[in-house]
Amino acid sequence: MAKGRIEINEALCKGCTLCTLNCPKEILHMAQDRFNAKGYRPVEIIDPEGQCTGCSICAIICPEAAITVFRMVKAKDRVAEKV
Ligand code: SF4
Ligand code: SF4
Repeated sequence: MAKGRIEINEALCKGCTLCTLNCPKEILHMAQDRFNAKGYRPVEIIDPEGQCTGCSICAIICPEAAITVFRMVKAKDRVAEKV
């Protein structure tokens, strides 16, 4: 299974919950302890077991482009991509 990680720009998040409802690993949640400058609870990732696959669904569905996804690629696959 591919591994990934995400970065969330909390300042852009409008708390719509679309990403939390569509993450297949159910590792995205609305923060309960803070608000951003717009007054929304931003999304946060809770992924202690490293379940994120880098599928990018959260980034694609986010209307504010607040999520950036990084997917880990094995070195041998990276070489194969260049051929
Ligand atoms: S990249 Fe996929 S698995 Fe990772 S947080 Fe986003 S929707 Fe969930
Ligand atoms: S989809 Fe985007 S704007 Fe909506 S909660 Fe997720 S990060 Fe925030």
